[in-house]
Amino acid sequence: MMKRMPVIFSGHGSPMIALQDDELTRGMRQIGEKVLQQYGKPKAILAISAHWYTKGTFVQTAEEPEQIYDMYGFPKELYEVKYPVKGCQELSERVTELLGSGVAVDNSWGVDHGSWTVLVHMFPKADIPVVQLSANATIPAEKIIELGKKLSVLRNEGYLIFGSGNIVHNLRLVEWDNPNGTDKALKFNQYIIDSLTKGAYENVLHYETGPEAKYAVPTPEHYLPIIYCLGAADGDRVEVFNNVCNLGSMAMTGFIFS
Ligand code: ZN
Repeated sequence: MMKRMPVIFSGHGSPMIALQDDELTRGMRQIGEKVLQQYGKPKAILAISAHWYTKGTFVQTAEEPEQIYDMYGFPKELYEVKYPVKGCQELSERVTELLGSGVAVDNSWGVDHGSWTVLVHMFPKADIPVVQLSANATIPAEKIIELGKKLSVLRNEGYLIFGSGNIVHNLRLVEWDNPNGTDKALKFNQYIIDSLTKGAYENVLHYETGPEAKYAVPTPEHYLPIIYCLGAADGDRVEVFNNVCNLGSMAMTGFIFS
Protein backbone atom coordinates (compact mmCIF):
# COMPACT_ATOMS: atom_id res chain seq x y z
CA MET A 1 0.00 0.00 0.00
CA MET A 2 1.18 3.46 -0.83
CA LYS A 3 2.05 5.67 2.10
CA ARG A 4 0.13 8.90 2.50
CA MET A 5 2.37 11.66 1.20
CA PRO A 6 3.28 14.51 3.55
CA VAL A 7 2.47 18.17 2.95
CA ILE A 8 5.35 20.62 2.76
CA PHE A 9 5.42 24.36 3.16
CA SER A 10 8.70 26.12 2.48
CA GLY A 11 9.88 29.68 2.72
CA HIS A 12 11.51 30.94 -0.48
CA GLY A 13 12.69 34.52 0.22
CA SER A 14 15.22 35.95 -2.18
CA PRO A 15 15.26 34.09 -5.54
CA MET A 16 19.06 33.96 -5.15
CA ILE A 17 18.44 30.99 -2.85
CA ALA A 18 18.34 28.90 -6.05
CA LEU A 19 22.09 29.44 -6.46
CA GLN A 20 23.05 29.08 -2.83
CA ASP A 21 24.54 26.21 -0.94
CA ASP A 22 24.08 26.94 2.73
CA GLU A 23 22.24 25.87 5.83
CA LEU A 24 18.86 26.79 4.36
CA THR A 25 19.30 24.99 1.05
CA ARG A 26 20.68 21.96 2.88
CA GLY A 27 17.53 22.04 5.03
CA MET A 28 15.44 21.92 1.86
CA ARG A 29 17.56 19.12 0.44
CA GLN A 30 17.16 17.06 3.61
CA ILE A 31 13.39 17.40 3.50
CA GLY A 32 13.36 16.16 -0.09
CA GLU A 33 15.60 13.22 0.81
CA LYS A 34 13.38 12.39 3.76
CA VAL A 35 10.32 12.28 1.51
CA LEU A 36 12.02 10.01 -1.03
CA GLN A 37 13.32 7.68 1.68
CA GLN A 38 10.25 7.49 3.87
CA TYR A 39 7.42 7.83 1.37
CA GLY A 40 8.91 7.03 -2.01
CA LYS A 41 8.92 9.27 -5.03
CA PRO A 42 5.74 11.34 -5.35
CA LYS A 43 3.79 10.78 -8.58
CA ALA A 44 3.66 14.54 -8.99
CA ILE A 45 3.77 17.72 -6.94
CA LEU A 46 0.81 20.07 -6.59
CA ALA A 47 2.53 23.40 -5.95
CA ILE A 48 0.84 26.48 -4.53
CA SER A 49 3.16 29.43 -5.01
CA ALA A 50 2.74 32.93 -3.62
CA HIS A 51 3.67 34.17 -7.07
CA TRP A 52 0.60 32.85 -8.79
CA TYR A 53 -1.83 35.04 -6.91
CA THR A 54 -5.06 35.29 -8.86
CA LYS A 55 -8.67 36.40 -8.75
CA GLY A 56 -10.07 32.90 -8.70
CA THR A 57 -8.61 29.41 -8.35
CA PHE A 58 -6.71 28.09 -11.34
CA VAL A 59 -4.88 24.91 -12.16
CA GLN A 60 -2.40 24.12 -14.90
CA THR A 61 -2.81 21.26 -17.36
CA ALA A 62 0.19 21.83 -19.65
CA GLU A 63 2.16 18.71 -20.50
CA GLU A 64 5.35 20.71 -20.30
CA PRO A 65 4.77 23.79 -18.17
CA GLU A 66 7.10 26.67 -18.90
CA GLN A 67 9.63 27.61 -16.24
CA ILE A 68 8.99 31.27 -15.51
CA TYR A 69 11.68 33.74 -14.48
CA ASP A 70 9.23 36.08 -12.81
CA MET A 71 11.81 38.18 -10.97
CA TYR A 72 13.75 41.18 -12.17
CA GLY A 73 17.19 42.70 -11.74
CA PHE A 74 19.07 39.63 -10.54
CA PRO A 75 22.41 38.34 -11.90
CA LYS A 76 22.44 36.48 -15.19
CA GLU A 77 23.26 33.12 -13.56
CA LEU A 78 19.88 33.09 -11.89
CA TYR A 79 18.12 33.20 -15.26
CA GLU A 80 20.20 30.24 -16.36
CA VAL A 81 18.97 27.94 -13.61
CA LYS A 82 16.93 25.23 -15.28
CA TYR A 83 14.25 23.18 -13.62
CA PRO A 84 12.65 21.39 -16.56
CA VAL A 85 9.71 19.43 -15.20
CA LYS A 86 6.73 17.89 -16.89
CA GLY A 87 3.14 18.54 -15.96
CA CYS A 88 0.78 15.76 -14.91
CA GLN A 89 -2.57 15.59 -16.66
CA GLU A 90 -3.84 12.98 -14.24
CA LEU A 91 -3.20 15.26 -11.27
CA SER A 92 -4.73 18.26 -13.06
CA GLU A 93 -7.84 16.19 -13.71
CA ARG A 94 -8.05 15.05 -10.10
CA VAL A 95 -7.84 18.67 -8.90
CA THR A 96 -10.65 19.58 -11.28
CA GLU A 97 -12.73 16.67 -10.02
CA LEU A 98 -12.15 17.52 -6.38
CA LEU A 99 -12.74 21.27 -6.65
CA GLY A 100 -15.44 21.14 -9.33
CA SER A 101 -16.74 24.53 -10.36
CA GLY A 102 -14.38 26.11 -7.81
CA VAL A 103 -11.43 25.78 -10.18
CA ALA A 104 -10.68 26.66 -13.80
CA VAL A 105 -7.85 25.67 -16.12
CA ASP A 106 -5.25 28.33 -16.94
CA ASN A 107 -2.03 27.62 -18.79
CA SER A 108 -0.95 31.24 -19.18
CA TRP A 109 1.41 30.88 -16.21
CA GLY A 110 3.99 28.18 -15.58
CA VAL A 111 6.35 26.93 -12.90
CA ASP A 112 7.34 30.21 -11.24
CA HIS A 113 10.31 31.11 -9.07
CA GLY A 114 8.31 30.56 -5.88
CA SER A 115 8.30 26.89 -6.84
CA TRP A 116 11.54 26.27 -8.68
CA THR A 117 13.96 28.20 -6.45
CA VAL A 118 13.03 25.75 -3.67
CA LEU A 119 12.43 22.61 -5.73
CA VAL A 120 15.92 22.80 -7.30
CA HIS A 121 17.16 21.99 -3.81
CA MET A 122 14.37 19.78 -2.52
CA PHE A 123 14.11 17.55 -5.59
CA PRO A 124 17.22 18.45 -7.61
CA LYS A 125 16.71 15.76 -10.25
CA ALA A 126 13.64 17.59 -11.61
CA ASP A 127 12.12 14.19 -12.30
CA ILE A 128 8.83 14.72 -10.45
CA PRO A 129 6.10 16.42 -12.51
CA VAL A 130 4.78 19.73 -11.19
CA VAL A 131 1.29 21.18 -11.47
CA GLN A 132 0.69 24.62 -10.02
CA LEU A 133 -2.52 25.66 -8.33
CA SER A 134 -2.99 29.40 -7.91
CA ALA A 135 -3.43 31.17 -4.59
CA ASN A 136 -6.86 32.77 -4.65
CA ALA A 137 -6.89 36.44 -3.68
CA THR A 138 -10.67 36.70 -3.51
CA ILE A 139 -11.75 34.22 -0.83
CA PRO A 140 -11.38 34.29 2.96
CA ALA A 141 -9.03 32.03 4.91
CA GLU A 142 -11.94 29.75 5.91
CA LYS A 143 -12.59 28.98 2.25
CA ILE A 144 -8.91 28.46 1.54
CA ILE A 145 -8.54 25.90 4.30
CA GLU A 146 -11.60 24.10 2.88
CA LEU A 147 -9.93 23.97 -0.53
CA GLY A 148 -6.85 22.49 1.09
CA LYS A 149 -8.97 19.88 2.90
CA LYS A 150 -10.65 18.83 -0.33
CA LEU A 151 -7.23 18.33 -1.88
CA SER A 152 -5.83 16.28 1.02
CA VAL A 153 -7.10 13.01 -0.51
CA LEU A 154 -4.50 13.47 -3.25
CA ARG A 155 -1.90 12.53 -0.67
CA ASN A 156 -3.33 8.99 -0.55
CA GLU A 157 -2.87 8.79 -4.30
CA GLY A 158 0.86 9.50 -4.24
CA TYR A 159 0.79 13.26 -4.79
CA LEU A 160 2.82 15.70 -2.74
CA ILE A 161 1.18 18.99 -1.84
CA PHE A 162 3.72 21.78 -1.63
CA GLY A 163 3.22 25.40 -0.63
CA SER A 164 5.85 28.06 -1.21
CA GLY A 165 5.64 31.47 0.41
CA ASN A 166 6.83 33.12 3.61
CA ILE A 167 5.35 33.31 7.09
CA VAL A 168 6.93 36.75 7.37
CA HIS A 169 7.38 38.70 4.15
CA ASN A 170 7.64 42.47 4.08
CA LEU A 171 9.42 43.39 0.89
CA ARG A 172 9.17 47.13 1.50
CA LEU A 173 11.07 46.82 4.77
CA VAL A 174 13.64 44.24 3.66
CA GLU A 175 17.15 44.89 4.99
CA TRP A 176 19.27 43.34 2.23
CA ASP A 177 22.47 43.32 4.30
CA ASN A 178 20.89 41.93 7.46
CA PRO A 179 21.52 38.17 7.84
CA ASN A 180 19.03 37.99 10.72
CA GLY A 181 15.39 38.77 11.33
CA THR A 182 14.10 41.79 13.22
CA ASP A 183 12.42 41.32 16.60
CA LYS A 184 9.06 41.82 14.93
CA ALA A 185 9.78 39.13 12.34
CA LEU A 186 10.97 36.69 14.99
CA LYS A 187 7.94 37.34 17.15
CA PHE A 188 5.36 36.66 14.45
CA ASN A 189 7.31 33.69 13.09
CA GLN A 190 7.39 32.10 16.54
CA TYR A 191 3.69 32.82 17.06
CA ILE A 192 2.78 30.87 13.91
CA ILE A 193 5.16 28.02 14.79
CA ASP A 194 3.64 27.78 18.27
CA SER A 195 0.12 27.94 16.92
CA LEU A 196 0.75 25.17 14.39
CA THR A 197 2.56 23.04 16.95
CA LYS A 198 -0.18 23.23 19.56
CA GLY A 199 -2.99 22.93 17.04
CA ALA A 200 -4.26 26.48 17.52
CA TYR A 201 -5.25 26.62 13.87
CA GLU A 202 -7.59 29.57 14.39
CA ASN A 203 -4.50 31.69 15.05
CA VAL A 204 -3.04 30.62 11.74
CA LEU A 205 -6.25 31.37 9.87
CA HIS A 206 -6.77 34.70 11.59
CA TYR A 207 -3.13 35.69 11.42
CA GLU A 208 -4.07 39.36 11.30
CA THR A 209 -4.74 39.24 15.06
CA GLY A 210 -1.21 37.93 15.77
CA PRO A 211 1.66 39.99 17.20
CA GLU A 212 3.24 42.34 14.65
CA ALA A 213 0.94 40.92 11.96
CA LYS A 214 0.81 44.16 10.01
CA TYR A 215 4.57 44.12 9.75
CA ALA A 216 4.84 40.38 9.02
CA VAL A 217 2.00 40.05 6.54
CA PRO A 218 1.45 43.47 4.95
CA THR A 219 -0.12 41.70 1.95
CA PRO A 220 -1.45 38.14 2.09
CA GLU A 221 0.04 36.43 -1.01
CA HIS A 222 3.17 35.00 0.61
CA TYR A 223 1.28 33.89 3.69
CA LEU A 224 -1.65 32.16 1.98
CA PRO A 225 0.19 28.97 0.91
CA ILE A 226 0.49 27.92 4.56
CA ILE A 227 -3.31 28.00 4.86
CA TYR A 228 -3.69 25.71 1.83
CA CYS A 229 -1.09 23.41 3.40
CA LEU A 230 -2.82 23.45 6.76
CA GLY A 231 -6.06 22.36 5.08
CA ALA A 232 -4.31 19.62 3.14
CA ALA A 233 -2.53 18.51 6.33
CA ASP A 234 -5.96 17.63 7.71
CA GLY A 235 -4.83 17.58 11.33
CA ASP A 236 -1.48 15.84 10.79
CA ARG A 237 1.45 16.46 13.07
CA VAL A 238 3.80 19.26 12.09
CA GLU A 239 7.59 19.39 12.09
CA VAL A 240 9.49 22.63 11.60
CA PHE A 241 12.55 23.02 9.39
CA ASN A 242 14.68 26.02 8.46
CA ASN A 243 13.44 28.05 11.39
CA VAL A 244 15.36 31.10 10.25
CA CYS A 245 14.46 34.75 9.76
CA ASN A 246 16.69 36.80 7.49
CA LEU A 247 16.89 40.06 5.55
CA GLY A 248 15.15 41.67 8.52
CA SER A 249 11.59 41.13 7.43
CA MET A 250 11.62 37.62 5.96
CA ALA A 251 11.00 34.20 7.52
CA MET A 252 12.37 31.17 5.69
CA THR A 253 10.59 28.78 8.05
CA GLY A 254 9.29 25.57 6.58
CA PHE A 255 6.86 22.93 7.81
CA ILE A 256 6.29 19.32 6.96
CA PHE A 257 2.98 17.76 7.98
CA SER A 258 2.74 14.00 8.17
ZN1 ZN B 1 8.26 35.39 -3.24
